[in-house]
Amino acid sequence: MRHINYEKQDDWYADTDWQSPIALSKVDNVIQKLSKSQISLTFPTEQAFAFEEWEIGRQYFADGKLLYKDKTYNLVRFHFHDGSEHCIDSEFFSAEVHFVFRCEEDTLVFAIFLEATSKFQKHDISDVICKNTKILNLGIFLPKNFDYFEYVGTLTTPPLMRDIQTVVLSTPVVISNQDKQAIHQLFPNNHRQTQSLNKRPVYFYSTE
Ligand SMILES: [Zn+2]
Repeated sequence: MRHINYEKQDDWYADTDWQSPIALSKVDNVIQKLSKSQISLTFPTEQAFAFEEWEIGRQYFADGKLLYKDKTYNLVRFHFHDGSEHCIDSEFFSAEVHFVFRCEEDTLVFAIFLEATSKFQKHDISDVICKNTKILNLGIFLPKNFDYFEYVGTLTTPPLMRDIQTVVLSTPVVISNQDKQAIHQLFPNNHRQTQSLNKRPVYFYSTE
């Protein structure tokens, strides 16, 4: 399958100025203090999953539910970006996983940073995404802390669909170098550059 060309991303077109990804900041974004996180994310502890090759890269399909601001979203698909798309105070991470949720007509992208370290030796992700291991607990992608950023943007791949509620957890999940390599092989350098804020509000919901 031919994949979209990230070298030509300057030519990608969206019908909105509020695009994704963006540079996030714990200092400059609008800080909202919370007594506890408003996010409840549940995945079956073990589930079979499937994948398909799409022009925007391999997409994985699994079950999951997100309860967020009194709405229940269902997981539609998820995928990886080799090199994070968002950054926090100019810091980028090894990779980023995007869970795409729907609730009726609303689409929400739930993004989690992955940071590789040689000290971490578990290879859950490469076992799952490369081999035909069909049992997966998506909980491996969740950090303990659920502080998060929220803004309205687009999908980060053409056709850059607009009005996407975007939630980005601020705490990265630690992965092994082997897992980082596996993501790189399947999704080589598929990260879009950060886009201008164009005066949109960006919130940082912190429990600290
Ligand atoms: Zn994505």
